[in-house]
Parts: sequence; C-alpha cells; structure tokens
Amino acid sequence: MNYAIILAGGKGSRMKSDIPKQFLKLNDIPMICYSIETFEANDNIDRIVVVTSADYIGYMEKIIRSQGYKKIIAVVEGGRERYDSVYSGLNCIREKVNEAQQGRQKDKNYVFIHDGARPCVTDSIINACMHDVKIYNACVAAVPVKDTIKAVDAEGIAVNTPDRSTLWQIQTPQVFESELILEAYDKLYCDIDKKGITDDAMVVEKYMNTKVKMTLSEYTNIKATTPEDILVTEVFLTGKKML
Ligand code: C5P
Repeated sequence: MNYAIILAGGKGSRMKSDIPKQFLKLNDIPMICYSIETFEANDNIDRIVVVTSADYIGYMEKIIRSQGYKKIIAVVEGGRERYDSVYSGLNCIREKVNEAQQGRQKDKNYVFIHDGARPCVTDSIINACMHDVKIYNACVAAVPVKDTIKAVDAEGIAVNTPDRSTLWQIQTPQVFESELILEAYDKLYCDIDKKGITDDAMVVEKYMNTKVKMTLSEYTNIKATTPEDILVTEVFLTGKKML
C-alpha cells in the first residue's frame, strides 16, 4: 500500500497574498488540486492524506467533495513548521498502516511526501520515485543545479563556492519506506533541537543514518513561493495540458 501526504498547511508569507499560496487559483483552479489530481490518477498511489491548517480543513473538505476525489482518506490539521505538518500526516498513516497489517504478512509500504505548492508534479516523476524507493528505501525528486551557488556570510560576502557538479536542487515528492520515515520522525520529535529541518530527507539522513537517492526530476516541478512563480507555473501547467 502506498500513501501520499500532500502538504497544504503553510501560510505562504513570501507570496504576500491574503490566502495561502496552495489555495491560489491557477488557470481558475486552486493550486492544491493539481497535485491531488496527479496523485489520484497515478496507479502507484493507493491512499492520500491532505494536511492543512485548522482554518482551511472545511474549505479543503468542500473541494474534495466537489471534485469527487476517491483516494483521499483524511484531511488532518498541520502544525507551525513544515515538519510538524509532515508528522501530523505520518501519524494518520501510522494508524492505517497498523490496521492494514494486523493479521497479515508484512508488505512494504511507501510514503510519498509532497508539497501542495508544487502543482507541476507529473506522473513520470512519481513513477521514477517509485522505481528508486524500492531499491534505496529513500529517494527525493531533484535536479542538478544550473547556476553557480555561493555560500555567503551575514554581510552577503561570498565565503565559499561549492563545486557545481556535486550540487542538486531538492524538490518533492520525497519518498520513503514507511517504517523508516515513521521512526526517523519519531526520533526528530525526541530531539529538542529541530533547527534547520527544511526537508524530509534531512530527517532520514540525520536520525536513521540512511543514504538518500536523488531521483532525476523535471525543472518545471517548481515550488510556487513568490508572486512571479504563479505566472511561470500557469505557463508550465498550460504547456503540460497541450502535450
Ligand atoms: O513553506 P514552504 O514553501 O517550505 O512550504 C512547502 C510546503 O509545505 C507547502 O505546500 C506548504 O503548504 C507546506 N507547509 C505545511 N505546514 C507548514 C509549512 C508549510 O504544510 N507549517
């Protein structure tokens, strides 16, 4: 059984909009619907959990009813940080995994964690992640960086230029064997220092000492973060429909 946790619990303050970015309309459809539809249509995905803030649970449930999504098993409340929202989704899945496994042989379950603010995710990206997670137990959608990246100090002065050929830009989905990611997040929650946790691969690397495979993704799978991203995303989504 494979689960997708779709995150829609952020405020999106960098978008400078009244409503969270994942609910902004792209070509007249709320952004969150694009990811849900892609995961709904993908044969590798069995169940979906959507995570959102308490204020938007009713709104999300209304969208789900009107669109007739079939794989969504729960809409759960997220938390202050992205990792709090992921943990909330994982705890929902934990119950389902335990229920499903009672009295049965233990099959491997996989969990796809995806930012609802990445509407351009495709079937091919999900399938490539599915392929890699079966081999490596942990993989993330990613692309090699195109630009030179510099580490800078507090004054904005460059202190280091890492070798570009070793750098990848990390996206979602981030995909893990279910027991691995559950244990990693349980360990994170026992740690008082959660500073700087910006993705799920970091949690698995830090607490489970597990190597994470980079799954070659697509440059169009951007996270809509600032207002100009909205325009670009609409262009990508329109292009995808025409292909
Ligand atoms: O804030 P950031 O751009 O990293 O958010 C990535 C994704 O995580 C977004 O889809 C956002 O809605 C989600 N998120 C969340 N709960 C938070 C913060 C972010 O579900 N507390």
